[in-house]
Amino acid sequence: MMRVSNREDEEGIELRPLIENYCADVDREFTARLDAWPPDFAQIHVHEVIGGMLAREATLAKDLARAPMLWTGHSAPILLRAMADAYINLTWLLLDPVERCRKFIFFGLGQAKLELEHRRAQIGTREPTPQEVAMLEARERWIDSQRISGLLDVDLGKWSSISVRQMAEEAGCIDFYNYIYTPFSACAHSMWHHVAHYDLRECGNPLHRYHRRPTSETSAPDLYYLTLAAKYWSKTLGTFDRAYGLAISGPSSYETLIDAITDDPQPD
Ligand SMILES: [Zn+2]
Repeated sequence: MMRVSNREDEEGIELRPLIENYCADVDREFTARLDAWPPDFAQIHVHEVIGGMLAREATLAKDLARAPMLWTGHSAPILLRAMADAYINLTWLLLDPVERCRKFIFFGLGQAKLELEHRRAQIGTREPTPQEVAMLEARERWIDSQRISGLLDVDLGKWSSISVRQMAEEAGCIDFYNYIYTPFSACAHSMWHHVAHYDLRECGNPLHRYHRRPTSETSAPDLYYLTLAAKYWSKTLGTFDRAYGLAISGPSSYETLIDAITDDPQPD
């Protein structure tokens, strides 16, 4: 476990400057990609989907960085799993961006439309409040504003027509699926092999046959989880740069972070 500290006179790594520097580096890297990748207005939806995915990875990395209390096995994997999801999406979308980004948008709009219908069904025959009317109209306007008619098919399947595992296989990132997405899914979905490990402690009384007691304890933050988020952001940049043939110079936020952590004198 990597020790952390919020104060200079304590042992461990001083967090505030580490986090601020890291987030500034992520912003710099993100802006550099946008500068080097101007929108193609003939296929603007590609810029929106791919750019949106890139922005999401940057935001999740920074959000996790700014929340040391979430750097625990209980909470960090929820955000890290979302980052793994976005990484697999991005990698797969980049293999055929024009067609796949279109499908991605259609699926999302179908889901938004379905959500709207569920809201209407919930209101039923009663008179909706002015707030409800405003909310329903705003959502409908948002869906209709996406350059697509109101006759949008609601797609209830997966947007890619294949499983996340197959997407990862096709995109050459099955390791990401096996070693990140799947294990962190146990935490995100509160599965037994996560809960048994993190939310139960074995009772010390032999008369109780070592049953496990539920426990809700505050875990100390572990920098390791920040380094994982930083690594996924770095992999996202690598995949994006390769896809668009970009060669952007400048220090890497990931390497700078690792250097800052390892350069800092560690207590025994
Ligand atoms: Zn007991």
